[in-house]
Amino acid sequence: MAFSFYLPTRVFLGEGVLEEYGDFLGRLGRRALVVTGRKSAVTSGAMADFEELAKRLGLSRVVFDEVPANPTLETVAKAVDLARREDADLVIGIGGGSPMDTAKAVALLVPNRAEAGRLYEADLPELPLPMVAIPTTAGTGSEVTQHAVFTLPAKEIKKGFSDDRCFPVLALVDPRYTYSLPLDITIDTALDTLTHAIEGYLSRRATPLSDTLALEAISLFAGQKEALLAGKLLPATRRDLMYAATLGGMVIAQTRTTILHTLGYPLTYSHDIPHGRANGYLLAAYLEFIRPAEPVKVDNILKVLGMASVEEVAELTRCLLPPPGKFPEKELERMAALAATNGSSLAWTARQATPADLCNILCRSFG
Ligand code: FE
Repeated sequence: MAFSFYLPTRVFLGEGVLEEYGDFLGRLGRRALVVTGRKSAVTSGAMADFEELAKRLGLSRVVFDEVPANPTLETVAKAVDLARREDADLVIGIGGGSPMDTAKAVALLVPNRAEAGRLYEADLPELPLPMVAIPTTAGTGSEVTQHAVFTLPAKEIKKGFSDDRCFPVLALVDPRYTYSLPLDITIDTALDTLTHAIEGYLSRRATPLSDTLALEAISLFAGQKEALLAGKLLPATRRDLMYAATLGGMVIAQTRTTILHTLGYPLTYSHDIPHGRANGYLLAAYLEFIRPAEPVKVDNILKVLGMASVEEVAELTRCLLPPPGKFPEKELERMAALAATNGSSLAWTARQATPADLCNILCRSFG
């Protein structure tokens, strides 16, 4: 049995990590570009903590706070311009997946003197600027991955890029920054985490070590599902969901995601369904589809979730999420056909999926 595991990010996780371990940040650069969304960095309290830390370290900084949900390369280009103008030597992403992913792209493009449109090209030889991730949601796991996802309006898709040089150097993960998140966002992002762990566990790229992390993430989610159902989000719940999200990120850093995420992207792009929510809608039908190829692993997932059947997974997502809505058959076929063009995602999925299979998963989730 041979397998690899690569995760070059130094992680600090727990309440107060910026104060306790923020000094590590001072070794990484002198002039930081801080990449955030319009609100989350401030309302979460992360920005205030960061400001205090930056003052203590004597770190100069400029803030780019224009990252929307599902950012495009246009946003990346604006942030790159600012980083160049200000001569930044360090990039800090504070927020959910969108600001952290944008920060990764900026860190890679700036030293390569490359325009945002070249992000998906392989020939960017210069090492990225050091990048630090401070998440304010418990979902994406982007703080410990080499992945970033952007919306490409010309192609009407969301497309990921991955580069092993793009792992954050440092992840400062404080669950307190999720305390102010409303229940619906907490649920959506927790389901994103759950699908990272489940898809990673069921991926053809799974390893014994990624499986260990995946099962722990699923178990942490399982321990908090009653709290999510009841809307009772105590600090212990926040902490476990944050830890699960970081573990889920560690899993997909090894395995990538599979067809569940690929099917979810057009639901977000074309129908504005939040990323984690789209994944939640698809989860039960995906498990049902994979089951013949990985019966033991699907049973293990159910066991860890404390459930007897996939139908109970469907019941859980029904209780957690608003009703999924219906789509015309033509639209389901279009989204399935789009997902069927993602060769690597199909290759890593444990069971070979035809366009008809993909459409069937969508039909069962939205029919
Ligand atoms: Fe995701």
